[in-house]
Amino acid sequence: MDGFLKNPDRVRDWYAYRRAVIDSVEPNPGHVALAQLETIIETFTLATQNVDRLHQRAGSKNVLEVHGNLIENRCNSCGWLDDAHHERLDCAQCGGVMRPNVVWFGEMLPEDVFAQATDAARSCDVFLTIGTSAEVYPAAMLPHEARNFGAFVVEINPNETEFTPYAHASLRGPSGEVLPEVVNALMH
Ligand SMILES: [Zn+2]
Repeated sequence: MDGFLKNPDRVRDWYAYRRAVIDSVEPNPGHVALAQLETIIETFTLATQNVDRLHQRAGSKNVLEVHGNLIENRCNSCGWLDDAHHERLDCAQCGGVMRPNVVWFGEMLPEDVFAQATDAARSCDVFLTIGTSAEVYPAAMLPHEARNFGAFVVEINPNETEFTPYAHASLRGPSGEVLPEVVNALMH
């Protein structure tokens, strides 16, 4: 936030560039598989650290963005949200400063979103921890919460992670390859 306030134009330009990159790519087979999984599981929650909205573009509905997203801007004073493509500098509600709706280093996670993710982790039967190093807290707490509350926890990652010793099962490979196989097996 200090960097943004010092040089908002530079930060906004960088986010506009990142948005343009995201707009030019498509969801991968892993995103698509998770959207399919949601259609065959009765209660499904996707908590993501991704900020690119590719899960939603792939069709996922119940998504909790624990680190926010790059596609919206948020008023730094009142929290009003706007499509970042509009590139509004000032809030339409209160005139406050519009900023990317992402969680920056040193900032708190959105409290209600993280609370919902924690509830989902504590109440689920199966928890998949996918493509994360499991080192960034507090998001990295979620698989531990799930395990402590009785879920079967499966890690999907090409490499060992901090969570590997706690996982009930580890599927080694990129999520874009492993997830379609898992979903395919569940659907047939
Ligand atoms: Zn505002």
